[in-house]
Amino acid sequence: MECSNGPCKMKLQFAYLKQHVEHECSYRTVMCKYEPLGCDWKGLAKDSKKHKKMCTTRELNASQLLRQVMAKNAQENNERERLKQIDNKYIEVTKIWESRCRNIVTRDVVLESGQSFDGEGVIHSRPFHALHHSWVVEIKQVKEKNENNKNNVETTRLKLRMGLENESKLRHRLLLHICVLRGPDTSQEFHPITFECEISRKDLYSQWVDFPIVGSMSSFAESLASEINLRVVLVDKRRGEVSHSFRADDDRGTSESSFEVDNYSDARKLYSNDNYLMQLIPTKFLFFKKKKK
Ligand SMILES: [Zn+2]
Ligand SMILES: [Zn+2]
Repeated sequence: MECSNGPCKMKLQFAYLKQHVEHECSYRTVMCKYEPLGCDWKGLAKDSKKHKKMCTTRELNASQLLRQVMAKNAQENNERERLKQIDNKYIEVTKIWESRCRNIVTRDVVLESGQSFDGEGVIHSRPFHALHHSWVVEIKQVKEKNENNKNNVETTRLKLRMGLENESKLRHRLLLHICVLRGPDTSQEFHPITFECEISRKDLYSQWVDFPIVGSMSSFAESLASEINLRVVLVDKRRGEVSHSFRADDDRGTSESSFEVDNYSDARKLYSNDNYLMQLIPTKFLFFKKKKK
């Protein structure tokens, strides 16, 4: 296997790759030694000696340091709060959809902590139950040659797919619209994923789609040390229209919600558009009005 950090390309046995990429490679990204004290320098390991000589944090006195650390903490809290709000927004919207429409279900899918890519470069989620079947989500790392790049450097990208654990209960094909969002308590950011797929006895898995993480591959490897939660929305495309009966489908029974649909015809119009999930998610309550008490 080859090191994936920029131009390093060192060849290593798989067993030593992780150690090299994360702790030894001179092209890995490192923070300044004084990062806990508020220095925000971040760069390649090979440049860290040079920075250390110039680092201004070393020259600060105690009260200046205190100010710098407090500013850093405040910034981190703001960022955490911002991410939490985005998550909550997504969760709220998907919950509303699930409680209003009989053919949408939402599941929290767990990638257990401490996983690493297996021999085929794949990690697997814990199995989860939805639409009367048992599913798994898989994430794979793929090396891609960049044609535009003069040095012909290979870049590593992540792909995701979803599939059935086994086919035993599959009677007819499933036509699904899938949406994958970041779940709660997960620091790894990624952009929402939507794709359509057909699941049949012949093809138990969806196609591989891009898993657009925010940040580098090495930071993703770090994220794997803790649990990663994905919020997966499954839309069964064969089944009816917006439910007027206000029942949540599938195994979880009725979920409570303090929202009511403002306008059914608008809901149906949006719902019939294939891109509705993409449209819905960033705009929050397009047509849901809070119930007045
Ligand atoms: Zn390397
Ligand atoms: Zn520094």
